[in-house]
This record gives sequence, structure tokens and C-alpha cells, in this order.
Amino acid sequence: MRLLFIILFSFTYCYVSAQERFDSLNIIDSQLVDNTDSIVAIDSIISFYDISKSFGYQNWETQEIIYKNDSIISLYDSVPIVLIDSIKSEKYTHPFQGEITSHFGYRRYRQHYGIDIDLITGDSVKAAFDGKIRVTKYSRGYGKLVVIRHKNGLETAYAHLSKILVDSNDCVKSGDIIGLGGNTGRSTGSHLHFEVRYLGRAMDPESIIDFDKAELLDDNILICDKHFDYLQRIANDKNAKFHYVKSGDNLTRIARRYNTRISKLCYYNGINQNAILQIGQKLRVR
Ligand SMILES: [Zn+2]
Repeated sequence: MRLLFIILFSFTYCYVSAQERFDSLNIIDSQLVDNTDSIVAIDSIISFYDISKSFGYQNWETQEIIYKNDSIISLYDSVPIVLIDSIKSEKYTHPFQGEITSHFGYRRYRQHYGIDIDLITGDSVKAAFDGKIRVTKYSRGYGKLVVIRHKNGLETAYAHLSKILVDSNDCVKSGDIIGLGGNTGRSTGSHLHFEVRYLGRAMDPESIIDFDKAELLDDNILICDKHFDYLQRIANDKNAKFHYVKSGDNLTRIARRYNTRISKLCYYNGINQNAILQIGQKLRVR
């Protein structure tokens, strides 16, 4: 009985939350019809926090680099997002146009949560969309970092800067220079590490931006589970187990020892079943 109540309550809450979210977005939209100027004006109508709350953000925290996602809305299958509304003169600006030196993705058991763009220290780095500066700080990994929350529901992060030119709570327009590129933090060589996040979860910037053309793929996107597939891989990796190849080992023997299949060993390690194993080689077995 209690379980039934919880299920019923959750369903009702989800439905109402979603309805409120879209209602409040509509309110914002209708209020903005005659207001095409600036985000500062938007703030005078309805607080920026209210806007971001409508996407499921529960707080405005200027010290936490990554928004801690505890929102029930994040469990939705898909969320339509209007990245830019050209009727309201919104635009996208490419943060910095340069060669991509590393893509978003998973390599050697580590996730790269952004995309790296080559630049020269001192190059101008620009805000991608209108928004409000949430974080400006130095961290060991990111170096000098700026995080912006946008009124389209996304957050973008700009790392390894040599100089930060904005403060937390500043409102910015797409194209405003927020800092200068650099090589601070865990970085080898000057570059911009650029992240796109939704409710704290990183997504591939190339799923919304064409980095060759320096423009959006589309004005709208539908955020859904596939943007966060990699999280499952990370979760699986936390349970990973490894074996160091010893003299006399072969795939059959290792598979039997760890109660797994040769095909799985091949999949985990990117090898084929005829691969010659080297003594001391590290193999993932689970
Ligand atoms: Zn990077």
C-alpha cells in the first residue's frame, strides 16, 4: 500500500513539475515577446534564478564548479531546449575558433568531459550564449575557470584561462569576452577546455555545435538519455577488475579463472582472440 502511494505520489509530482516547468517557460516567453534587448532586462522581469529553476536547477552556487544534480526533472526521458531564439535576437558565439586537439569522450578508462581548442595565451574567449556568470575561480585541474549558466538551461565552462575578466553574478551577452586563453591548471600547452553541461551532467559539445563552421547544428535540441550514455560506462568501470598476464597464461585460462568469456575479454581490451599476450600485460577482466 505504501509502495503504491509512493509510486502515485512520484508520478503526480513528476507530472506537475513538468507542467509547471513548461508553464513557467511560457510565462517567460510571453513576457519576453516585446523585449529583445538584454538579459539584464530579463532579470528585471523575472529573476535569473527563477528561469534556471524552471529547468530543474535548485540552487545558485558560486563556488561549486559542477552543479550537484539532485533534481527529479533530470529523470525525464527527454527535455526540449531552445538554444537560441532568433526572434528575440538571441545568438550563439563560438568561444574560440581554433583547431580541436581533443574531443569529448572516453579514453583509457578516463572520461574527457569537454573539448579542447588550441589557442595562444592571451586570445579572447567569448561567452557562447546569453547568461549569468556563476563561477569564477582557480582550481588545480581546470586552472582559471569561468562557468556560465544560460537561460536556455545549459551551463558552459571555460577552463585553463590566463585571465578572468568577469565576476560571479555578472550578466553577459553571447559574444562578450569573459577571459583570455591560457595554460593554467592541469594543462600541457595553451588551449581552451570547453564544457557544455545540463543539470551538472556534461554532454558532448559536438552534439550541439559544429566546430568546423563555428555555429550551432540547430537552434533547438532534445536532451535525452543518449547524451549521457557515457555515465553508464563510468559506473561499469568503477567495478572493473584487472589481471596481469603471467607465464603460461592465455585467454582461455584467464576467462575460466574469472568466470567470463573470451569474447568479453576481447571486447574489454580491444584485442582479438588470437592476440599474443605479453607477460606483465594489464588486462581488464570485468
Ligand atoms: Zn580538456
